[in-house]
Amino acid sequence: MSFGRPISMPPPHAGLTQSRYHTGVTGANLENTKRHNRRVVLETIRIHGPVERAAIVERTQLAVQTVSNIVNELLEDRLIRKCPAEPGRRGQPAHPLDIEPDGAHSIGLSIDQRTVLGCITNLAGQALASDEVDIVGLTGEEAFDRIVALVDRLKQEKRRQQSPILGVGLAVAGPFGIRSYLADAPTAAPNWLSNQLVEELRRAVGLPIEIISDSMASTIGQRVYGGGRERDSFAHLFVGFGVAVGYFLNGRVYLGADGNAGEIGHAVLMPDGHECFCGNRGCLEQYLSLYSVNRYLGVDTSDPEDLQRFCERVDNPDAATRQWLDDAAEALRRAVQILEQLLGARSIIVGGYMPASILRTIIEMANPPYRSVRERDDGGPPRVLLGTVGREVGVISAAALPLYSSYDPALDIKLK
Ligand SMILES: [Zn+2]
Repeated sequence: MSFGRPISMPPPHAGLTQSRYHTGVTGANLENTKRHNRRVVLETIRIHGPVERAAIVERTQLAVQTVSNIVNELLEDRLIRKCPAEPGRRGQPAHPLDIEPDGAHSIGLSIDQRTVLGCITNLAGQALASDEVDIVGLTGEEAFDRIVALVDRLKQEKRRQQSPILGVGLAVAGPFGIRSYLADAPTAAPNWLSNQLVEELRRAVGLPIEIISDSMASTIGQRVYGGGRERDSFAHLFVGFGVAVGYFLNGRVYLGADGNAGEIGHAVLMPDGHECFCGNRGCLEQYLSLYSVNRYLGVDTSDPEDLQRFCERVDNPDAATRQWLDDAAEALRRAVQILEQLLGARSIIVGGYMPASILRTIIEMANPPYRSVRERDDGGPPRVLLGTVGREVGVISAAALPLYSSYDPALDIKLK
């Protein structure tokens, strides 16, 4: 089996509707409007539940009858449930509505050069089971078989057997569709990963697959479950093996042409700095990433025990670790200031696979940030926040993708 050209995004088979990704203006037909309103109502219940119908009408600005019809459909589909009525109320008892966590499931996969992590989550984003397979040294065909077996195992872990699995969210390191620059970068996805392989995978597992960069998946995860839940403009600096930034601006995720927005890892932030495999010097990724920990401090960042020992090293730093921390903090300061000046985003959320204790240390060291448009007389919200972090964040966020595309309206509208 040959899997063809390098991966690009969005692939035509991935079930990503055009309207969510192109930048033009589209009209809405009746079916689109209906689906859209359904997502709006479900999203309102997810964020504000338990919530009464009257409050849903107020928040969504939809007609009472429209909300009522949609709520009845969602109840029928068992995606939401009625909570007990509040006691002591006069007249017709109003049953607040909330998400039915086990009403649907979703599978997340996260593929890097060494490992495929997988998990199955419910509608509330709780991981019911997770699993992983080692793919070091495997060909595309060999890895493919292991991934299919992994998905089959996860499918067995549904809490309620009759509820559907909405799809598979697949997170891989960007950039996408690059033929020369960064094509074989150590921080990129395995080079056997291609659109054709994903198509074969979709057929083999019998589920729609949505593919996205791990940084964008984590940005959606921050929005759906994490620190971006109540924010409609933020940038998420994803510190994984590489580093990238995800934009959530005015209630919409911004992917850029070919899904390659936010590849800040190879922005030259430290002129005349470390030589980078991309051909430039001083790229952010050389300073603030697990790759840099591996390259400059000799830590096997894919080994949880080695990573734990590194956390202890950061608590009592030797000279080399101190130098790495200083450089990482300076690189973060520069990245934060550029993102703030470019985007005017309300907060920069720092997350990813780098352990939380290390990111917290670096964020503290990078404080105060350089001066920027985000300085406010009244202080305002913190400019740099620690987001949801950990090795599982990417895969749980990937699992959010099918849920997100099926019911999250944030790409289309701003909720009140
Ligand atoms: Zn570079």
